[in-house]
Amino acid sequence: MLKAWEIENFLSERDNQLFINGVSAVTLAEEYGTPLFVFSESRIKYNIERLKRAENYIDCALKVCYAAKANSNMAILRTVKDANCDLEVNSGGELWKALQVGFRGEQIIFNGTSKEIWEIEAAINAGIYAIQADSLYELSLIEAAARRLNKTANISLRLVPEIETNTHSGLQTALLTSKFGMMPDEALRAFQLYKDSEFLNLCGVHLHIGSQNPSAEPYSEALKTLFENLENIYLETGLKLSHLNLGGGFPVNYLRDRSQAEHFSPAEREMFSADFEPADAIKNAWQIVKEAARSSNAENLLENLTLLLEPGRSIISDAGICLTTVRNFKQRPLFSGKLEEDNQLSTINYQLSTDHWLLTDAGFNILLSMETYKWYYHLISAERTNDEHDFPYKLAGPLCDGGDVYFDIEGEGRLPDYRLLPENVQPGEVLALLNCGAYSIAQMFQYNGRFLPSIVLVREKGEVELIRRRDGFEDLINNDSW
Ligand SMILES: *Cc1c(COP(=O)(O)O)cnc(C)c1O
Repeated sequence: MLKAWEIENFLSERDNQLFINGVSAVTLAEEYGTPLFVFSESRIKYNIERLKRAENYIDCALKVCYAAKANSNMAILRTVKDANCDLEVNSGGELWKALQVGFRGEQIIFNGTSKEIWEIEAAINAGIYAIQADSLYELSLIEAAARRLNKTANISLRLVPEIETNTHSGLQTALLTSKFGMMPDEALRAFQLYKDSEFLNLCGVHLHIGSQNPSAEPYSEALKTLFENLENIYLETGLKLSHLNLGGGFPVNYLRDRSQAEHFSPAEREMFSADFEPADAIKNAWQIVKEAARSSNAENLLENLTLLLEPGRSIISDAGICLTTVRNFKQRPLFSGKLEEDNQLSTINYQLSTDHWLLTDAGFNILLSMETYKWYYHLISAERTNDEHDFPYKLAGPLCDGGDVYFDIEGEGRLPDYRLLPENVQPGEVLALLNCGAYSIAQMFQYNGRFLPSIVLVREKGEVELIRRRDGFEDLINNDSW
């Protein structure tokens, strides 16, 4: 029987070890050192195909633009490009990386709230598919830049339509309290102002409801909102938009292995174990929009339309594993009285009077969201996969910072207090954090003078390619003058 974390053709166990596309995680850790990120080319491609399946359920073209901010390592971008997936970027830096990798202009869309002139100019010069304007003011900057360059900029307006989801508050992006986008009235005004500009091609509207959205319904609401805007814009200005952009946010099931699921609040549990097919969400959303179009006799507005998606997490998260080595351990007495109080320990059914601490080499400098969002990454032993994972440990990283722990130090219980691993874990044992591909290496930093890790990509045929070398001493001071 497959273990809960196993994934066919990707993650498996053999000889009591974790294998990633047929390659031993323990061997990789020995060869490249830890912490080490391991990515799977075939899983990235599988995830892209899974999203593209939505095309079967809609009566228009689908354009999937991977959200580069989730992970923009150059080999990852190349893999995405080779899978015939387009790209969403958030800065002139990401745009430059995209062009270096070989994405063509029409494959790129550009988001962001504080675009600088050089970034706008670079986007116009690259002839990208859409610059997603965040405000009326920004639109005026784009128009002026296009006029200077004597080029036409393709524009989509980002809307902030007041759609709430049950994800983490920091990941909600379609509320008026969030910093993004324009209210529908403002957007309409923008279309009225610029519809005749020879330097702007106003071709779409965009929204992004947030990340790791646990349920599919908000996507229907969001697509309906986009269509209503399209319809209204047509009625008020005569402009017929050529694309609607539904954003990203499709969830990843971080709780495939339910062994610690009861240690989350119901809301956190729902969010981390969210698991719906993006294609199904799109299918339902499209049916609702089609119905709306029919009832207002506006079906012609759905003709020659392209639907854009901007998935990041759902493409790259489960394709990345972080291998880490236990570097230190210690035992601490439990505070008296804690044992009875501590629900988690009693459900684990351990009558310990001692906390067993494991100190790893993977800290929040490479997994920032574990600290900021109390994000959950399931942990297993990479070299004892078959042993019962039933012994509770306190887990912490290497940083000189009390917050560098794998539990919720604020005591709000948003992460399990203990992680379950085989008994008697010793320094030197290699552990694997799963689903680590998104918003991890994209946010890493050298806090405490720590070397940023190596990254390897396991190619489809099983070859292992080093796609980022580990930092050396020089990398710690590269940009300093003294
Ligand atoms: C972050 C972001 C995405 C990607 O979100 P995921 O949850 O990673 O799919 C897409 N679009 C915009 C505008 C974003 O800010």
